[in-house]
Amino acid sequence: AIHMQGLHKRFGASTVALDGVDLTIEAGEFFTLLGPSGCGKTTLLRILAGLEDADQGRLTIGERDVTEVAPHHRSVNTVFQSYALFPHLSVRDNLAFGLKMRGVDRAEREARVERIAEFIQLGDLIDRRIDQLSGGQRQRIALARALVCEPDVLLLDEPLSALDAGLRSQLQVELLRVQKRLGMTFVFVTHDQDEAMVMSDRIAVLNGGTIQQVGPPREVYERPVNAFVARFMGHAN
Ligand code: ATP
Repeated sequence: AIHMQGLHKRFGASTVALDGVDLTIEAGEFFTLLGPSGCGKTTLLRILAGLEDADQGRLTIGERDVTEVAPHHRSVNTVFQSYALFPHLSVRDNLAFGLKMRGVDRAEREARVERIAEFIQLGDLIDRRIDQLSGGQRQRIALARALVCEPDVLLLDEPLSALDAGLRSQLQVELLRVQKRLGMTFVFVTHDQDEAMVMSDRIAVLNGGTIQQVGPPREVYERPVNAFVARFMGHAN
């Protein structure tokens, strides 16, 4: 499980990005952080990834207090909105890159890349260069590249937001299949309540750097605890 306790984060003197976040995410959950622009979703994700430090609070992943643990030593990997792939390298080399960085030897790298390529059904995309791929295909490669490192926890920051509706629902199904099959913990960020409703085991609704409500999507939708959650989940009043 991931435990967050009293996480605070400010930027400069006046911006409070996180204002005391307490949250537990269970192992194997598809957990969604949902909220409007600027509510602190990305900041929370970056703190989980170790790309940002909280000013206050405690964070444990598994049994480990990771407050002082560097990003690449956490069993966590991230899929960002912008794919952050190397455009001139092949898909295969992009997938292997993170493994190489982690000191995985060549034979093991090749085996893992093959395994994940088969699992995500990349087919002959594997030998194409990134700059020869469509946006949807790049997003699938970004996902494959994060999975190939076999993290316990995968962080996903609006990975589908740039895609058109058809491709988006296709990739929603793929993400869910991958998550259930691998039994990984997914922490998924979105500002789209419909997407959160269909994907998540549980969601946390954020506003102004605080968690407004946590629960299964249906419960949050049907029994919002305050006016903000009700409005954000699409109730008329
Ligand atoms: P969005 O959906 O627009 O990505 P978000 O919910 O992910 O928004 P965050 O990116 O976490 O929101 O930002 C939370 C607050 O912190 C915002 O007010 C933002 O302007 C501020 N903020 C985030 N990163 C920085 C930074 N590096 N420097 C200064 N302010 C920042």
